[in-house]
Amino acid sequence: MTSDVKVYRNVCPRNCYNTCAMLSHVVNGKLLKVEGDPSHGYSQGRLCAKGYAYTSYVYSSERLRYPLKQYPRGSGNWVRITWEEALNLISAKLLDLNHRYGSNRSLAYNKCSGNVGILHYATEGMFNSFGSHTKLRGNPCMSAGMDAVTYSSGGGKSPDPEAMSNSKLIVIWGANPAWTAIHQLKFINQARDKGAVLVVIDPVYTATAATADYYIQIRPGTDGLLALGIAKVLVEGGRYDSSFVEEHVVGWDSFESYLTEKVSLEEVQSITGVAKNVVELLADLYFRNDPAASWCGFGLQRYQNGGQNVRAIYALSALTGNVGKAGGDFYYFHPATDFFPLNLLNYQGPNDGQVTRTIDINYFPSQALSLVDPPVKFLWIAGRNPLSQDQEVQDWTKLLKELEMVVTVDLFMTKTAEVSDIVLPATSQFEDLDINVSYWHHWAALNQKAIEPYYETKSDLEIAQQLTRKLNELQPGFSNFPSERSAEEWVESEFTPEILELYGLSSWRELEKAPAKLRIGNKPWLDFKTDTGKFEIFSKDAKEDRLPALPRFWAGSSDPSFPLRLLTPQNITGIHSQNWLLEWIGPDERRNDVTMNPFDAVLRKVQDGDEVRIYNAQGSVTRKARLNQEVLPGIVIIYQGGKEPVNSLLSGLSADMGKKYSGSEGAALYNAFVEVEKIVRSQI
Ligand code: SF4
Repeated sequence: MTSDVKVYRNVCPRNCYNTCAMLSHVVNGKLLKVEGDPSHGYSQGRLCAKGYAYTSYVYSSERLRYPLKQYPRGSGNWVRITWEEALNLISAKLLDLNHRYGSNRSLAYNKCSGNVGILHYATEGMFNSFGSHTKLRGNPCMSAGMDAVTYSSGGGKSPDPEAMSNSKLIVIWGANPAWTAIHQLKFINQARDKGAVLVVIDPVYTATAATADYYIQIRPGTDGLLALGIAKVLVEGGRYDSSFVEEHVVGWDSFESYLTEKVSLEEVQSITGVAKNVVELLADLYFRNDPAASWCGFGLQRYQNGGQNVRAIYALSALTGNVGKAGGDFYYFHPATDFFPLNLLNYQGPNDGQVTRTIDINYFPSQALSLVDPPVKFLWIAGRNPLSQDQEVQDWTKLLKELEMVVTVDLFMTKTAEVSDIVLPATSQFEDLDINVSYWHHWAALNQKAIEPYYETKSDLEIAQQLTRKLNELQPGFSNFPSERSAEEWVESEFTPEILELYGLSSWRELEKAPAKLRIGNKPWLDFKTDTGKFEIFSKDAKEDRLPALPRFWAGSSDPSFPLRLLTPQNITGIHSQNWLLEWIGPDERRNDVTMNPFDAVLRKVQDGDEVRIYNAQGSVTRKARLNQEVLPGIVIIYQGGKEPVNSLLSGLSADMGKKYSGSEGAALYNAFVEVEKIVRSQI
């Protein structure tokens, strides 16, 4: 390398457990190479294939370069326009709707986790600056589990995942770090080098399961019942941590009676598919290995009983005395952004005397279509691809036809962008300043601007600045967004004295030298944030919210007309719908097949490699069938994303919890049932 290589700090913002810190090598303004940042204590200088492929992401031939306008919507008749034209068109529509309806409540946005950098809340801040409008509530990913955590412990702190290196037993319930949280394997392996036992409980025989000491194949959505079965064995054998329970647990007597009287190991075996002696083995492992870490993945709370699954596993962690214990504890989600003021997200707009309306993110199109006085007429989509990922696809299609204007901000022409009127090209993380924290590890890192924006791309913040300026030019006072405030000033405003103290920093600029870690992470904690100040196995709050007070199991609905359960996990090279267009790591035909058990295939006269239709009352997709006896009978697996995404088969059902944390129940994305049939030539 020559001496004119400049190295910048960046962060991968792709809604991934790892939130890796990166060093970007730039020569003559061009991103030449991306490598891991060794000064980041969690990612420690390594990235996954997606991270190492970032130069192909930034310079992809598929990347959007200019603002585009399409007429009519969905026709594919795109023309390049200037930013000035785009801002004028959008502003004209916003002002027109404002005049017609006397408020901005006909304007809605739909934005989530395409880039989870803190400055990407500029979109929310921009809409706040319009006064009352229509915005999202809820979360599609993890809210049922968050409520389970909140009912049990009041939220509290999430443990430092690096502490897993000191665990004696690691039980991974429904997560696949070998694909989705690769750096965690390092800490798991450190523990295993010292003799720790790794157990993976998952309906899918994953790459992580393949490396475990014990792999327990469980029927989908029954994890909570298995946890209750293990708890029963421990309680009846007197092999639980009675001093922890006495001191820190509320509702023990009711739980104990429930386990002994209502939970039967025969039922556990017949429903979960886990043999009774294996339930006893798991109980023995929990009893003999101290500390024991339990890691609850997001998949097992994407069921109608998802919150209860998480509560039961958390209760198991409590009765074995592992909650709050270094090296033990319960891992689910680290709400790192909650520490920050999030000044863009919480930006105060003018009070126009009207109330901002909210729409459940999981039922966005049907709820948007039902709104009147005023109806939703304008939609801004950023950091999302609902036509690939959301349920209610038919309603989405209807909504996108009925709106007067749809604007999508993205780096690529997604399925959703394809049915927009205007597409605004977005910067990658290498092209703007940001701050990133993780929903898993405890590090914060600076994302520097390493290269100039690709062609005419702009960041969410710059778009908000320019659009609000244009609006105020056309109608003074339309927005109170501080359009002159720079990205650096927004970053500065996030680092309050409390945040600096938490991360042990004197200024955010210290992050230019190295990432920083929360200083609370390694200490055990037992300061539960519940009303009782204790771990609530019996939750009065849950009861008041018309949920079972104790962690209980119920199977959720099924559909005899569609006997196969559809699971839709993440692909190894993608995150949701992202990366499918990348030349280096993009489409891998085999990974976009439907995988099923040979027994189910024989019943349907399907052979390996056959083209099949997977369908239910919501929709249908076609795939090549791959037969694999490692897949449980009664289950089919299709990965998310791709040209013909699988979201058209989602049920539209809700999880049991989620309202407390996010304002809406989570989505029961895995309560989807389908049938599979071979496509014969005459059908094609
Ligand atoms: S996708 Fe995840 S593991 Fe890969 S580089 Fe980004 S944050 Fe790291």
